[in-house]
Amino acid sequence: MIKEINGYFTCTLCEYEWSAMLSDDEIPNKCKCERENKKVTTQFVTKADYVYKRKNGGTTLCYGTLEEDSNFFVVCDNEHLDGVWAERDPLKQKSWKDVCEHLEEVYDENIEQLETD
Ligand SMILES: [Zn+2]
Repeated sequence: MIKEINGYFTCTLCEYEWSAMLSDDEIPNKCKCERENKKVTTQFVTKADYVYKRKNGGTTLCYGTLEEDSNFFVVCDNEHLDGVWAERDPLKQKSWKDVCEHLEEVYDENIEQLETD
């Protein structure tokens, strides 16, 4: 899936970045890797610290280590829902799995990526 990250349209699967000079309508709907259905997906997934299988069949890729005071950068399928989540209770959400399950409940069911600061 292609998302705008730090001003660059970036493929969340293979990390390919399109030129910032391109306008929105010049960015393809699907990256080349998605159209060609390459195995790049699995390579990229293995770089995540945790991969959560969502209830709706999707996956949430988690990056970083959980600290007591971690904030989380949340990237959703719907980019309008992207944001920072800072309300983790480390006693309740101990692991990445707990965090993913909790955010799936309270934040959005289509979180594509989580990253700690
Ligand atoms: Zn790609």
